[in-house]
Amino acid sequence: MHVDCHIHIALNGQNYKEYQNKILQGDYQPIKDVLKEYKKRNVLYLRDGGDRFGISYIAREFASDEGITYKTPIYAFCKVGSYGSFLGKPINGIDDFKNEFRRLLRYKPDHLKLIVSGIVDFSSYGHVTEEMSFDFDEIYYMVQSAKDENLQVMVHANSSKSVRAAIMAGADTIEHGYFILNEELYLMAEKNVIWIPTLSPLGNLIKYNDKRFEKQMDNIKKIYFNHLECIRKAVQLGVKIAIGSDAGSHKVMHGQGCFNEIEHLKKAGLDDEKIKEIAIKNSRLVLNITND
Ligand SMILES: [Zn+2]
Repeated sequence: MHVDCHIHIALNGQNYKEYQNKILQGDYQPIKDVLKEYKKRNVLYLRDGGDRFGISYIAREFASDEGITYKTPIYAFCKVGSYGSFLGKPINGIDDFKNEFRRLLRYKPDHLKLIVSGIVDFSSYGHVTEEMSFDFDEIYYMVQSAKDENLQVMVHANSSKSVRAAIMAGADTIEHGYFILNEELYLMAEKNVIWIPTLSPLGNLIKYNDKRFEKQMDNIKKIYFNHLECIRKAVQLGVKIAIGSDAGSHKVMHGQGCFNEIEHLKKAGLDDEKIKEIAIKNSRLVLNITND
């Protein structure tokens, strides 16, 4: 049985508008079709990154019919005016978080998802659209509030600054983590934080030689190979890495995503034993799977 620790069922890897519109009009067949794709490939453990429409909330209801364990934060929290509003709820300050977190708990989230930085800028190497959106005290408060509710915390962070803040605040997993430095790798190893490097969104653009990104392709390759190098170092330092493909994002298809991710990870020069440990042991740890 395979695991994907980072998917977005609210997106479908291509022209998602039509897909989303159907669902939002009450036709849930597209969600069921996606779950069938997972089942067909024996990917039976899924962890969603959330969405603002409640699509992952609906998916969780259907997943058990397919024998899939499906975990979702329902929606993520991001900072007002910063990246992430399509994945969740923009909030402003701790008081706002307190109210919104109380509301979120009614939907019984399986974990908390925080978006604390922007995304990788394909046009300029080393650049993230926003280094850190919340300040450290806010991140710490949000993470600890989740811990009080026994919820794991999944943090979207790119840039050394935001990854470090997330680790120091007590995050359980770092998602993406582009442009991290050795210091954060040491910290992840020391604090037993699991890193989900999501290589597939960039890796698949390279793999399929996506013409839409022709002008940025050199940079995308540079970023991807730098990320592979960080992964190689992380493994040497004893950081636990897990499989999360970001399936649903452009060119990362549901069901196939986790296999793409494994394929990309192999490019970091990891041996079969290590890949197995990442794909099975570590990824199951993220989803708290202990029964098989
Ligand atoms: Zn994501």
